[in-house]
Amino acid sequence: MSFKIDYLNELMTTVEKRNANEPEFHQAVREVLESLEPALVRNSDYIYSGVIERLVEPERTVKFRVPWVDDHGMVHVNRGFRIQFNSAIGPYKGGLRFHPSVYEGIIKFLGFEQIFKNSLTGLPIGGAKGGSDFDPKGRSDMEIMRFCQSFMTELYKYVGADTDIPAGDIGVGAREIGYLFGQYKRLTDQFNGVLTGKGLSYGGSLARREATGYGLCYYTEKMLATAGMSFNGTRVVISGSGNVAIYACEKAQALGATVVAMSDSDGYIVDNNGINLEYVKEIKEQNKGRIRDYRIYVPLAEYHAGSRGIWGVKCDIAMPCATQNEIDEDSAFSLMAGGCRAVAEGANMPSTLEATKAFLSGGVLFAPAKAANAGGVATSALEMSQNSQRMPWTFDEVDTRLRTIMENIFDNCYSTSEEYGKPGNLVVGANIAGFLKVADAMMSQGIV
Ligand code: NDP
Repeated sequence: MSFKIDYLNELMTTVEKRNANEPEFHQAVREVLESLEPALVRNSDYIYSGVIERLVEPERTVKFRVPWVDDHGMVHVNRGFRIQFNSAIGPYKGGLRFHPSVYEGIIKFLGFEQIFKNSLTGLPIGGAKGGSDFDPKGRSDMEIMRFCQSFMTELYKYVGADTDIPAGDIGVGAREIGYLFGQYKRLTDQFNGVLTGKGLSYGGSLARREATGYGLCYYTEKMLATAGMSFNGTRVVISGSGNVAIYACEKAQALGATVVAMSDSDGYIVDNNGINLEYVKEIKEQNKGRIRDYRIYVPLAEYHAGSRGIWGVKCDIAMPCATQNEIDEDSAFSLMAGGCRAVAEGANMPSTLEATKAFLSGGVLFAPAKAANAGGVATSALEMSQNSQRMPWTFDEVDTRLRTIMENIFDNCYSTSEEYGKPGNLVVGANIAGFLKVADAMMSQGIV
């Protein structure tokens, strides 16, 4: 037993040395390694075949210059990344993030998480992630277009409908995907499903926009049911007001919850009568405005500067849907002190390791991101199927498949947690279940 723990500790030390100054990547790897011991006890072949050493090292990392010209004729240079982490179970798949905080370590942690998430969907997709430190905020449509065209002028060499299929993430929505797709088509002369999250008029899927937020709620419903709870009648706090947050709010409300708070990186609003989502959509989706503008529509709502304070708002269920490490240990204790009984992660790695441990030892129901937010990538894989068939499906058809996929992911995580001696611990369940499928595929394919 201790041999396995020593092995995992040594591997963690190597990862830290080899990827110096990338704390987000260390955190993501540590969480997975801490879960895997029971799987290694059952099957030591995972150690002897070096499968975990290979899993923590990307298959390929592409890093490139992205020069572009702003509306005043000034030249800017950003960095572009694509990390193709693991293709054992299918072509690389994962989003692109445009945000000034992006550097190799962020893309690496996201790509690593994506391997397990994609595996959990049950669909044949490998893990990757990409992006740039470009900040789209305040940029005109033409500036965004020029940036996207320059980004794709390099990226197109490494992606393809059967090799690597990027999608959106923070800062990359339908507009950016459209410009990226247009440039890919121009460079390659091919109209295919190389990107997902496309517009409906050129190969996009109905319900892809809603998928991550809706899927999060479908997963959470199943988790709540294990404790005899449901969304109905609960008070819910959701961080962020982007794609994931808006559609998590929409579905939670439809299931009977009252969503009382939402945020952006400047601050958060509290509306005890329940957030009016139409106003949030108008502010965020149409006007690209700030969440504080909600008070123009609802003057009695509160606005507080600073986004972290949102975890002090009393709630039954918290859904972090903004960014990584937005809930630290103190925020976790504030949530629990306010009566929070369930946390469902919509963002990637929104809870620090300490916060996760606090929730688990405090008896809070905890839905980890790599399982709970897999609805987006699952529906992207459904978009790929529709593209291959050249046949669009209806909203209800996609939504029904999404619900089934999320329920299956929950069942898989739950039964794996029981099978490996940690009943109800969905972090362990998700990590082991996601790992086993990829590891077994890697072992079958030899040392590659
Ligand atoms: P969007 O760009 O649509 O929205 C991001 C939201 O988070 C905005 O409200 C933004 O506020 C806020 N935000 C971003 N950075 C910070 C920060 N440092 N502090 C506080 N708030 C911040 O992105 P998505 O909704 O697509 O993504 C949100 C999260 O969900 C990310 O972790 C992403 O990786 C994850 N995810 C997304 C999927 C998808 O399908 N889109 C799929 C699976 C996971 P502001 O406008 O002020 O920046």
